Amino acid sequence: MTTIFSKIIDKEIPADIVYEDDLVIAFKDIMPQAPIHILVIPKKPITNLYSIEEEDQALLGHLLLTVKKVVEKIDLTSGFRVVINNGSDGGQTVNHLHLHILGGRSLQWPPG
Ligand code: 5GP
Repeated sequence: MTTIFSKIIDKEIPADIVYEDDLVIAFKDIMPQAPIHILVIPKKPITNLYSIEEEDQALLGHLLLTVKKVVEKIDLTSGFRVVINNGSDGGQTVNHLHLHILGGRSLQWPPG
């Protein structure tokens, strides 16, 4: 399924990219919910965690390692949160798996 994130991967629309390799891309969220709000996505068009498969195991690990690379790169030492919204009740609005990295302020718990 093609989403706006496919267009970002294909460089058809601009994004503020903070990290990219063969498998993943990380870019700043267009509507940040915290002073730091970065999305990490696989280039493979996986919809969400309902649709991952065994063959995606290494890629999913790579996504988490990318989170570490990103927070190290931007020197986010005071803490951060990673969120994956899944489906409509989960608040997912773009049907391409993405990890939100949120930080830069003290985050509240539980989320709304
Ligand atoms: P979701 O609500 O699906 O978990 O998160 C989707 C996120 O993608 C939202 O935080 C939204 O602001 C972000 N987003 C949607 N369209 C664009 C876009 O064109 N560029 C960027 N950088 N972020 C986007």
